[in-house]
Amino acid sequence: MTIADNISAVRARIEDAARAAGRDARDIRLLPVSKTRPAADVLEAEKCGCTRFGENRVQEAIGKWEELNPGHPEISWAVIGHLQTNKARQVARFASEFQALDSIKLARELDRRLQQEGRALDVLVEINSSGEPQKSGIGPEEAVAFCHRLDAFASLRVRGLMTVALNSPDPEQVGACFQRVVDLRERLRSEAGQVSDWDELSMGMSGDFELAIAHGATTVRLGQAVFGPRDYSRTA
Ligand SMILES: *Cc1c(COP(=O)(O)O)cnc(C)c1O
Repeated sequence: MTIADNISAVRARIEDAARAAGRDARDIRLLPVSKTRPAADVLEAEKCGCTRFGENRVQEAIGKWEELNPGHPEISWAVIGHLQTNKARQVARFASEFQALDSIKLARELDRRLQQEGRALDVLVEINSSGEPQKSGIGPEEAVAFCHRLDAFASLRVRGLMTVALNSPDPEQVGACFQRVVDLRERLRSEAGQVSDWDELSMGMSGDFELAIAHGATTVRLGQAVFGPRDYSRTA
């Protein structure tokens, strides 16, 4: 299977899942996750019409951006993994989207660095929907208050919520994670102000994206389903 084959297969699965949920597949964005894959693989996916790519490590993402940006300005980057505050400056330089906002300290630092760069950034708030202590993200209980505080940061264009569900073979437990985020989005939508028009729900990975679409995902982040098994030896 080539990357092009994988992308066709994944698009067909997204369409099927959308149809089964009574949704329009055009409302679901495929975000290929290129972590551990070389820039050549990114270009192969680009030929299939993908122009934004997810990466969870800033250093790796910057490397690919520096390699590809001169010849391919149409390719843009979404940082989808937990970010330490001391890396905010790098993200402010090159990323178009950041999906793992989980602290006010980080929001403040990103906003400050973006202003220095004269840039803005699309941002999703990461929700810890599984309650696992090792996972990053804001707990659903604290999330409403957290989201309201983001109004203060003019360079952050907050678009919605992101989650990584429980890694489990039990679809009920995985679905419950997605549903917690959907419920939270409804709570935010019912309120006045900026948060009421957040429309992005980034949830679903290679192992659970059809279930995420059934729950209302608007972005699915697919690594292995697009690029094949990961090769960690390249990036160690
Ligand atoms: C790696 C990663 C993905 C993609 O995982 P696959 O299982 O390969 O689809 C999605 N989201 C995040 C946050 C990731 O780190």
